[in-house]
Amino acid sequence: MTPKDIDDLRPDPAGIDKAVAYLRAGDLVAFPTETVYGLGADATNDDAVATIFSAKGRPSFNPLIVHVANIDAARALAKWNDAADTLAQAFWPGPLTLVLPLVPGHGLSPQVTGGLDTIAIRAPAHPAARSLLSAFKLPIAAPSANPSGRISPTQADHVKEGLNGKIAAVLDDGPCPVGLESTIIDAVNLTLLRPGGVNVEQIEAVLGRPTAQRQTQDITAPGQLASHYAPNVKMRLNVETPNPGEAFLGFGLMDCDINLSAKGDLTEAASQLFEALHLLDKEGRTIAVAPIPEVGLGIAMNDRLRRAAAPR
Ligand code: AMP
Ligand code: MG
Repeated sequence: MTPKDIDDLRPDPAGIDKAVAYLRAGDLVAFPTETVYGLGADATNDDAVATIFSAKGRPSFNPLIVHVANIDAARALAKWNDAADTLAQAFWPGPLTLVLPLVPGHGLSPQVTGGLDTIAIRAPAHPAARSLLSAFKLPIAAPSANPSGRISPTQADHVKEGLNGKIAAVLDDGPCPVGLESTIIDAVNLTLLRPGGVNVEQIEAVLGRPTAQRQTQDITAPGQLASHYAPNVKMRLNVETPNPGEAFLGFGLMDCDINLSAKGDLTEAASQLFEALHLLDKEGRTIAVAPIPEVGLGIAMNDRLRRAAAPR
């Protein structure tokens, strides 16, 4: 595709129709989900899926999450089991991704799963994503709509800053309500692959048993690599008192440059995290981040912050 400005679409019937036309033509459309903006392509179209990897600069071994409208659509692609059913009944549509064996005859481009015989799949809750999925009717492969390794987009402007000239359109429906990527669970081994928008405590309560932790040595993808979600500037974590010249990202009542949640609310803080990193990254100062409690959504926030601060 020759570089051109991104077509700015609204999530109304005309915008959804246009987004569907782009997807059918094999073009990429960024769309809002409750987690972050996704970079969507027709998951059954090899060329379209290849364009996701080239637009993001994403390594081809890093598999994509397939987005579907509901459990029935998921069952056409993934070998369903009781745990998947329990989790999907409890948390779909919503920010939970299940990894399951692929079914034969799934029809997906093999690049979607990076050649694996498993699929990562979820039904998003965001109304615009749901409208798009029900109008398009086919599964949509969608990683976060940002250059690989960088901060995830929680607003349409973040998408345009990162991918202008590389994608056809963005469906703009304002900021993403959750603001952190989905939780990923291997639903065969009940292993937590990535903490995210659904708390692991809630998942374990619904399953009635603890989940296993991913073994750190079997790193297979940048979403699980040490450096990811990274701003251009340096970051320091668990800072009580920032050094002179640092930008201070706060949590709870304190004197700081941006406060993720003055009242110490982790849900509010999670929704603000990537926007705050985008804003502070433009200032060029090192970002010092106040301690975030390691509970609930704080677990996923600290996971993203550790990767954002990791040596690159
Ligand atoms: P992103 O789309 O950037 O949020 O990343 C999606 C994440 O899903 C990647 O980091 C992968 O590790 C994970 N993922 C996707 N497919 C699979 C799979 N079949 N098995 C394990 N992890 C997967
Ligand atoms: Mg991503």
